[in-house]
Amino acid sequence: MDVAVVTVGDELLAGRTTNTNATWLCERLTDRGVAVERVTTVPDRVRDIARVVNEYRAEYDAVVVTGGLGPTHDDVTMEGVAAALGRELEEHDDALEWLTGVGGYERDDLTDGTEELPAGARALHNEVGVAPGAVLESVYVLPGVPEEMRAMFETVEAEFTGEPRHREVVVADEPESALLERVQTLREAFDVTVGSYPGDSVRISIEGTDETTVESAAAWLRERVETSDA
Ligand code: ATP
Ligand code: MG
Repeated sequence: MDVAVVTVGDELLAGRTTNTNATWLCERLTDRGVAVERVTTVPDRVRDIARVVNEYRAEYDAVVVTGGLGPTHDDVTMEGVAAALGRELEEHDDALEWLTGVGGYERDDLTDGTEELPAGARALHNEVGVAPGAVLESVYVLPGVPEEMRAMFETVEAEFTGEPRHREVVVADEPESALLERVQTLREAFDVTVGSYPGDSVRISIEGTDETTVESAAAWLRERVETSDA
């Protein structure tokens, strides 16, 4: 399964908020064997949200959108997602029932719009905050507050499936450029994906769907590079 992550918020684009939601979602999805193909941040603007959601839902198996769910003027994500799917926002019976039941809110205390979701959506209840999320077609809409987003994602996590991948990291104490030939040979000899991440040492990441192949590839490379603990 492949997925796109869309994070919504002017404050993310202005650098005032670090996009920990994207990192967390990417890690969780990757751990499940789901390929995250895009992470895109868009402003709190209906047409921008609608445009990327529309594009990504055609391209990927699912789209995970976070941020901009509350009922304040700058929270327009549901409107954007509704527009992408050609739906209206409407009062959602199940969302309202949950908010006034389990949620313990009085209907009159809810800010206008809180219980509105795109027509035909499945409501996702917010165990940590107020604003409900939604799933419609393959688009998952989650809150921006990290705690709320995580709790809600965990209620739908099982819907994201993929082939688990195995990964080994080989740390080489050599310049990255010196390793090129060995990395090339490794890629030709084994059915794995190789990433090279320079820092103080070079971390070479070896990934694939077959555990034995990944282990053999890592062992092959470890025998052929200089390591600090060797
Ligand atoms: P609320 O209902 O509280 O308004 P919301 O779902 O509308 O929540 P936002 O308004 O987008 O979410 O963001 C609320 C707060 O959550 C932000 O001020 C920020 O601190 C945090 N937040 C939002 N998006 C992210 C993100 N991608 N990564 C980390 N934190 C985020
Ligand atoms: Mg908000």
